[in-house]
Amino acid sequence: MAFHEAMNRIRQSDTAPLYIGGLEVSRPETAEAFFQQQTDAIFLFDASGTIIYFNEQLPDMLGYSAETLYEHFAVFNPPDQIEAVTAFFTRALSGETVHYTAQGLHADQHRVTLKITNMPVEQDGQVIGVYGVARDITREKQLEEDVSSIRSQLELTEQIPELVVFHFDVNTQTIEFSPALLHFLGLSEVDATTLDQEQLFSRIHPRDFDPLRFEMERLIAGEKERFEMEVSLLTADDTYQLLRLKAFHRPHHPDHLSVVLYDLSEVDEARRQLVTERAQAREIYEAVNAAISQIDLFSGRILFHSQGFLHIFEELPQDLMLSREWLFERLDVRDHAAMKQFIRRLVDGQAGTIQYRLHFPDGRVKWIEDQQIPIFQLDGTIAYTNSIMHDITLQKAYEEQLRQLALRDAVTHLPNRQALIETIDAWQEKNQSFFVLTVSFNRIAEINNAFGHGSGDQWLQGTAALLQQTKPDETFLGHLGGDEYALLVPTSYKQDVTTCAEALLDLSETPISIEPYALFARISVGVSRYPEDSTDAVELLKHSYTALRRSRRENHSTMHHYASNLDIDYYRRYRLEQDLHYAIERDQLFLEYQPKVDSWTGKIVGLEALIRWQHPEWGRIPPNDFIPLAEESALHVAIGDWVVETACRSMQHWKATGAELVPISVNVSPKRFLIPGFEHHIERMLSTYQLAPELLELEITEAALIMDDPMTSRTLEYVSRIGVRIALDDFGKGYSSMVYLQRYPINVIKIDRQFATHITDDSKAQAIVKSILYMAGEFNLTVVAEGIETLRQLDTFRTLNCPSIQGYLFSHPVQADVMESFLLREILYPIEACSLSSDTVPRFSVSGKVRMLTHHTQSFELPFSDIEAHRTSTRALYFSTKTSLPLSDATFEIRLSEGLQLVTCTVTITGQQDEQYIGEYTNPTEAEQIMRFFQSLRYRP
Ligand code: C2E
Ligand code: MG
Ligand code: MG
Repeated sequence: MAFHEAMNRIRQSDTAPLYIGGLEVSRPETAEAFFQQQTDAIFLFDASGTIIYFNEQLPDMLGYSAETLYEHFAVFNPPDQIEAVTAFFTRALSGETVHYTAQGLHADQHRVTLKITNMPVEQDGQVIGVYGVARDITREKQLEEDVSSIRSQLELTEQIPELVVFHFDVNTQTIEFSPALLHFLGLSEVDATTLDQEQLFSRIHPRDFDPLRFEMERLIAGEKERFEMEVSLLTADDTYQLLRLKAFHRPHHPDHLSVVLYDLSEVDEARRQLVTERAQAREIYEAVNAAISQIDLFSGRILFHSQGFLHIFEELPQDLMLSREWLFERLDVRDHAAMKQFIRRLVDGQAGTIQYRLHFPDGRVKWIEDQQIPIFQLDGTIAYTNSIMHDITLQKAYEEQLRQLALRDAVTHLPNRQALIETIDAWQEKNQSFFVLTVSFNRIAEINNAFGHGSGDQWLQGTAALLQQTKPDETFLGHLGGDEYALLVPTSYKQDVTTCAEALLDLSETPISIEPYALFARISVGVSRYPEDSTDAVELLKHSYTALRRSRRENHSTMHHYASNLDIDYYRRYRLEQDLHYAIERDQLFLEYQPKVDSWTGKIVGLEALIRWQHPEWGRIPPNDFIPLAEESALHVAIGDWVVETACRSMQHWKATGAELVPISVNVSPKRFLIPGFEHHIERMLSTYQLAPELLELEITEAALIMDDPMTSRTLEYVSRIGVRIALDDFGKGYSSMVYLQRYPINVIKIDRQFATHITDDSKAQAIVKSILYMAGEFNLTVVAEGIETLRQLDTFRTLNCPSIQGYLFSHPVQADVMESFLLREILYPIEACSLSSDTVPRFSVSGKVRMLTHHTQSFELPFSDIEAHRTSTRALYFSTKTSLPLSDATFEIRLSEGLQLVTCTVTITGQQDEQYIGEYTNPTEAEQIMRFFQSLRYRP
């Protein structure tokens, strides 16, 4: 619609003049060209507000097509503007010219800022429409806002130095920044002109760089509007500071990014929070007893300390500088080294805990436990350490008490084994030489078994008290366990160690009371020396104990010094223990038989089966050496059962040859009765080998009865009931209690060999034997005297009316086939004359030493043992020694000396002959030297 047509629509008369804003429009037709040339939008409303005319600028400005613009003005305003715009329109309708800025709504729904003028259109003094002019000032408005926002940002930036702003233009790749940024990064103004991305990037902590770039790229690509993260930037003072970064698109400038950095700690809320947290933390710090502190490790400055710090140190260092001098002044010297190391490790960045002692002027000592944790800066250096200290003095005292308790024996209150070892260590540190005496009273197991543990404790207290009274002041007494003790005797002791040991041995004459008895002990002593025997506390004790064990093997109170050759014994014992497991299956065990004869006629009245072990390497092992080993494990059961079976089988065999059978006895370990089934095994064997039960006899010792075990008595009663006989072996050696004879089904008493040894010249021994025989008569028991070796002994036993005899005089234990011939012969004669011959021939001998170098693949550094060498051939040296040596797979070094001569050779043992070892030379040159050595002795004047 043209302008004049629009005017015609609203005019009331054709003649009355029209006024726009008070100016007469005389010819509306001519105005059209003028309106179209305007750069502003020109339009006309009717009185209701509907657009009835507009020039070409309006559709451009609002984005509508011309036809769609003939609408009420409200259509082109955002709803929030309509009220204001209507108010201006109404003012124009009432005749006023109004100027205002309002927002219009573009066809694509974005807002445009318009500067508008509305004027009334009048005719005949009446407003008939409204004329409007509008200019799009959106861009100007935006520029203005930008300017003011930058200004306000800059202002902000000046006010809060921690807030840093910069803008980044993606197209030009340029950065606009606030002065605060330069200041913050420590760049001069000159740098500022050349500030580029590169420089900015180099300030970002490497850890944060990639995450930041990733987010930035997504922002630039328009994948997100904004993001926030934390980054560390290198600041002016060359330290990293943790900042919060916000990046976003600038409104209306899609290519411009704004980045704001600010320090969280400066935000009020955060600060308040921090303050409360600190206050809470402080409350806790003050409440706990522990000392909590922060210390600058390098300057020693105490950055923070809780009340507890004062409680521990009782004062603060000057200027709060905790210097090493200040600390070490108070530190116990014993803890200096550990503290130095602890600090070294802290400096290396390792957290740790240390315990140390602090000394106070009044002499008090406190134990402190100090845990320190180094706290790192972002560049990896240590900022400070957090330390938590506890006063652990009480705890330490308690621990020490416990330790003291742990170092004492509960019954005797003497220092225990551990305390002994610590004392040995301490004496060694003082460089003092000393002896270790181990002492055993040898009776505790037996007393515990016989009288119970209460009496056992009395025995321990009694023995400990005796030692306390006897021991010289300069010695240290400790309790090893059982009734075994150890004494440390300094070499400087005014009397010698032998005097000390003898005083101990004399204790065997002092009765020890366990109510209502007074018992005597056999005392065994072992001695080792420091430093000669070993420099290790445990080993010294072990050596002394090895010597003690040797003493214990003897029947009387005695002492032994640790001698190196005991070590071969030790080694042998160890090897035997291993090998015993295979002894039965490898057929290494066999029985020998020793006859018991009628003391007047020599008629064989019984046999004793005695076990032997033929070891491939160590030769024949006596039962006393391996039966105790078997008893330490369950092996003794298999071995015991094997003995019963083998004895029964031999009996069956002899019976088959037509010999007259006599009862055979087997020795039974006391422990065998503690394991069920023995009686059934016996029954089975008797029936398997078709033997009358009366032909089997079990030899038991008092040790089996002293335990008073119900299983033992049941088994004994059972076998006795079926007819098997029971003999009490070694009678007279121990308690020889009548009680056993009464309580158990005993048929035979075997008088211990020691009586045979002394009977000819000891009237006491005679008296005892006499009373045993008398008693046996009363109980209706058979008696056998053991160990008869001489005719004189036989004579004495005959006069005492001892019915039967067992001993070398009639026969050594012999192999089964020899026994077979004995049984067929029925009668034996004394053979005293021949038995001693070998001992009476004087032997040539030269003394020397031997030590084992290797056994199997193992090599040894064992000390030397004594030997006597008797002769040599071109191939072998014949020698004897008390130490048992392995017979195969071993090499030995032998040294022989006479006067100034000393010869050495290496040999392997190939066997034994007349109780001499045959040592075969491994080196012909050495063999020759030994030959010459022997010759030189022969031809010596
Ligand atoms: P025991 O039962 O008292 O055996 C007697 C020991 O005295 C045997 O020693 C025997 O060879 C030895 N003997 C016999 N007559 C004389 C003599 O006139 N003079 C000397 N000096 N000794 C004589 P052996 O064979 O060394 O046995 C020692 C101990 O080993 C035995 O003492 C016995 O307690 C135990 N024993 C032997 N065989 C077995 C067995 O099969 N099982 C168990 N558990 N122990 C056994
Ligand atoms: Mg026996
Ligand atoms: Mg015996």
